[in-house]
Amino acid sequence: MKKYNFNAGPSMLPREVIENTAKQILDFNGSGLSLAEISHRAKDFQPVVDEAVALIKELLNIPEGYSVIFLGGGASLEFCMIPYNFLVKKAAYLNTGTWAKKAMKEAKLFGEVIEVASSADANYTFIPKDWTCPEDVDYLHITTNNTIYGTEIRKELDVPVRMIADMSSDIFSRPIDVAKYDVIYAGAQKNLAMAGVTLVIVKDEILGKAESVRQIPTMLNYKTHVEKGSMFNTPPVVPIYSALETLRWIKKNGGVEAMDKLARQRAEILYNEIDRNKLFKGTVAKEDRSVMNICFVMNDEYKELEKPFFEFATSRGMVGIKGHRSVGGFRASCYNAQTIEGVEALVACMKEFEAMN
Ligand code: PLP
Repeated sequence: MKKYNFNAGPSMLPREVIENTAKQILDFNGSGLSLAEISHRAKDFQPVVDEAVALIKELLNIPEGYSVIFLGGGASLEFCMIPYNFLVKKAAYLNTGTWAKKAMKEAKLFGEVIEVASSADANYTFIPKDWTCPEDVDYLHITTNNTIYGTEIRKELDVPVRMIADMSSDIFSRPIDVAKYDVIYAGAQKNLAMAGVTLVIVKDEILGKAESVRQIPTMLNYKTHVEKGSMFNTPPVVPIYSALETLRWIKKNGGVEAMDKLARQRAEILYNEIDRNKLFKGTVAKEDRSVMNICFVMNDEYKELEKPFFEFATSRGMVGIKGHRSVGGFRASCYNAQTIEGVEALVACMKEFEAMN
C-alpha cells in the first residue's frame, strides 16, 4: 500500500533527495568510499558546502553582508546562542507557541526580555496583531511558523527593529525579505535535510555584538563558525549533503516562488475539506492558518470518532497525522516535498469516513 507521509519532523523529503544521498553514502563521487567515511576536510567535500551555501544565497536572494553557516545542536541550541551573541541589554519576543516560549526562556538567562504579545491564553490559536515593538531593543524574535499549533506569519512584519526569526518549519517554502532580519535560523529536518544540521543566516555586522558585555565560549560564538566556513569542528556531513540535494531539487522545481504556490494549493485543498466536512473543524483563526502544518479536530458532536478516523486513515496509508498532544486531533504537515496527490488522498479519506458516519 502506498504511504503518505505527514510527519511533522523529521519529515518527508523528495524521493530523489533520499536516493541521491543514499548513492553517495554507498560510493561518494565514485571514490569507492562512503560519504560517511571521508574527512569533512577532504577536497571533494568542500565543494558540497560551497554549492549548498551558494544555492541558499541564490534561492533566498540573500543580499551582500550575510553569512550562511551550518551548525549542529538543532534549532534548540540557537535559542541560547542568539541571546548569548546578540542580547546586550534587552530583547523583544513575540510569543506564538511552544518554540517561541522556549526561545524566550533561554533569552532571560542573558538580559531583559519583553514579551511584545502572546496568544498563550487562547492556546496559541492565533497570531497576536495589536502590539508594538519598542525601538530600543537589540532585536525582535519571532517564530514564523508554529509547527505544533498550526499558525504562521507568512508575510514580513513591519517593525522598527531588525528581526531574528526561527524559520525551522517554513524556510524555503516562500520568498523572504532577508534584509529585514539580523538572523534567520532553521533546524533542517523539515524543509531542507536529514536531521542533524541547523541552517543559520547571519548579518555579518552584528557578529560579536554581545562580546562587549560577556565572553562567549568558542563553540557558541557565531563568529567562530563564520570565520571557519562551518568547518571549525566536524560538521554533520551526511545531513549537509542531503541539504545540497534538496536545494538542487528546489531550484529545479522553480525555486521558492514555486514552493509557495504549491504550498498554498495543498493547503487550500485540505482546509476546504476541513471547512466543508461535517465531522471536522480547524483549530486556529482562519487568517493565521499555516500552510505547512494543518491542524484539525473532530467537531464536538463527533468527538468519539477521533480514534476510529485515525485508524481508518492509517489503514489507507496516511502516516504521521496525529496532532501534537497540546492540540489533540490531527495535524497534516505539508512541507515542500508533500504532493498534491498526498493531500488529495487524505481528503478522500475524510470524505469516505464522513459518508460512513
Ligand atoms: N523551532 C520550531 C519552529 C520547531 O518546529 C522545532 C522542532 O520541531 C524546533 C524549533 C526545535 O528544533 P530542534 O529539534 O532542531 O532543536
